[in-house]
Amino acid sequence: MTPNDRNSVTSSKQDLTPLRIALPLIFNSLRVVTESDVLPLGSVLGRVIAKDFLAPISVPPFDNSAMDGYAVRSLDLAGSNMLLSVKDRIPAGAIGDKLSQGESARIFTGAQMPQGSDAVVMQENCEFVNHEKGLIRVLQPVSAGENVRSLGNDIRQGTCLFRAGHRIKSTDIGVLASLGVENINVKRKLKVSLLTTGNELQPPGKSLASGKIYDTNIAMLSSMLVGLGCSVTKHHAVADTFAETLKVFEEAAGESDCVISTGGVSVGEEDHVRDVVESLGKIDLWKLALKPGKPFAFGRIKSHDLIPKFFFGLPGNPVSAFVTFGLIVRPSLLAMMGCKAQAPTSFKVATDFERIYVSEREEYLRSRLDSSSEGMVARPLNNQSSGVAVSLSEADGFIVVPSFSKVNYGDRLGFIPMSEFLY
Ligand code: AMP
Ligand code: MG
Repeated sequence: MTPNDRNSVTSSKQDLTPLRIALPLIFNSLRVVTESDVLPLGSVLGRVIAKDFLAPISVPPFDNSAMDGYAVRSLDLAGSNMLLSVKDRIPAGAIGDKLSQGESARIFTGAQMPQGSDAVVMQENCEFVNHEKGLIRVLQPVSAGENVRSLGNDIRQGTCLFRAGHRIKSTDIGVLASLGVENINVKRKLKVSLLTTGNELQPPGKSLASGKIYDTNIAMLSSMLVGLGCSVTKHHAVADTFAETLKVFEEAAGESDCVISTGGVSVGEEDHVRDVVESLGKIDLWKLALKPGKPFAFGRIKSHDLIPKFFFGLPGNPVSAFVTFGLIVRPSLLAMMGCKAQAPTSFKVATDFERIYVSEREEYLRSRLDSSSEGMVARPLNNQSSGVAVSLSEADGFIVVPSFSKVNYGDRLGFIPMSEFLY
């Protein structure tokens, strides 16, 4: 984007870019990792499938009983005779003998249907006529296929179950396990350098020195990155000087696919991140029409290289850092891992508040979801200051108030559940 383009997409004299413009701009400049790893199923949660995955077998691999009862030939029960001999007992895992006319087999849930049978009568619908002779009466006839889970009913061999770019969930791991999959081809981990800036930051372990605060962002964001399946290198509390910031950014860019920083991204005398990135590459985007999260920057370090290092500069306030991470960084990293690039999903929900002032910045209000007689309603938490990180823990998600909009009670607005940011 040229400076002119930038002016044309910003919303005001303050040069704030709306998220709907910023996101595609960022998505379009990212690079998807091409390399992949073959990993055991136990370690692929959250990773992205590298190649379309076709089912190697059918599931279930054979017709089997859906309940405890008697395997029968349904045609035997089509007339008036409801008496059958019981010739076999087939627990799950065992193989029974073929059934001939007039024969049945005691069968249990999950056991393979014996040859010749085509239905199962539930045990509740049978009674013994003669125990010694093994004779039962069927109280309710069954039609072919009844109470049978047929071969391939769940998965047909050869079906494409997961397209390349699919991010693996625990439920997918269950499906893959049902196919006997031991290893799977996933995109390699993204390498991310996370650095926090600020002379005031102190690592945990010691009581706070005067004027210092503990570093919230490094722990919060690195846990989110690990959850996304990234490998993270942390650089704690980079001092607020140009020289120190430059040194750490050079190191970070050398070791990773992208660099994420928090703090120091405004234009104060103590803010050096922007100047440093401009000296190492290029800032493509700066300042968003977003609340919280205005002082956000996106750029490229070594921008002339074939594969530049992508840079996300987040605000220092933990709430603003969290919101911009969830709205922008998380989907960007997923796109770099090969997932479809898309903004977090929202749904419409009735709001339980009003607001008469309008803002040019789209607002993301930390909110609770409650049920009411009219269905779910979203209520913003009282304290929306970007300094109160506890409200992130208390929130069920974010109400999205569009820019230049008032809010009336009952308005249906977008709501992004917290899970969209966290998993
Ligand atoms: P900055 O964006 O550097 O101007 O920081 C904005 C506010 O966020 C300041 O009050 C900082 O002290 C605070 N802050 C910056 N980084 C962190 C961090 N890693 N953990 C907690 N608070 C921070
Ligand atoms: Mg700072």
